[in-house]
Amino acid sequence: PDEIEINHVSRRFQVNGTALPALENVSLTVRKGEFVSLIGPSGCGKSTLLRMLAGLDHPDQGELRVGGYLIHTPSLTRGIVFQDHRLLPWLTVEQNILLSLKNRPGQAAEQHQQVARLIELVGLKGFERAWPHQLSGGMSQRAAIARCLAPQPSVLLLDEPFGALDSLTRRHLQQALLQIWQQQQLTTVLVTHDIEEAVYLSDRIVVLKPRPGRLHSQFEIIEPRP
Ligand code: ADP
Ligand code: ADP
Repeated sequence: PDEIEINHVSRRFQVNGTALPALENVSLTVRKGEFVSLIGPSGCGKSTLLRMLAGLDHPDQGELRVGGYLIHTPSLTRGIVFQDHRLLPWLTVEQNILLSLKNRPGQAAEQHQQVARLIELVGLKGFERAWPHQLSGGMSQRAAIARCLAPQPSVLLLDEPFGALDSLTRRHLQQALLQIWQQQQLTTVLVTHDIEEAVYLSDRIVVLKPRPGRLHSQFEIIEPRP
């Protein structure tokens, strides 16, 4: 079944009093458990689309659904990771991850166990009590991924999560992500500029192509593993 449904979505932004279209009438579906990468030139609307899937932005026309439900507001069931880790600097790695479980049902002891498992899963064992400023870029992104996974989201949204990392660190993080995805089969949408990354990680690559002479973009879909 399709977990994500993007139906005829348009989004315009006011620039100097004029509404310029960023996305116009785009439609896309993502199956449950599928890993889709979204590529395309800078400014073609990839982040805008991902932010709408997260509930951080809203379409002017059309609708976005996850699991059949219209997306209204941000929700921990759709975890998003950005290029910068956005960890809270006054909390340790463990506390940052635990924070995403605040107000969730469950015993504190169980939550600690779950966080310990996640920390191991992303390869941060031994850094539970480290502060964000003590972590390298790659380790920070590992922590951000663990935080995003803690509430057990059904959808993982990744906006160039490895874009700021050196190539070796990026390769390690890609391997870690692929392992996690293979274990959990989370429906994943990755925005990336790195075509190699898209090929390595995804079931399907969706190219958002600017239309010649037009401001907005349209989809073209490539399926490396149909
Ligand atoms: P991408 O992620 O593909 O680089 P974006 O989704 O960030 O593209 O942006 C798509 C287009 O929408 C760009 O022209 C960008 O300048 C414009 N845009 C995005 N967000 C805003 C905003 N909040 N206000 C005005 N224009 C915006
Ligand atoms: P990314 O590199 O992930 O595409 P950007 O750096 O383009 O992200 O955008 C970061 C933020 O700035 C987003 O919230 C986006 O909506 C906003 N933004 C992008 N372009 C513009 C713009 N022309 N005017 C106002 N806000 C913008």
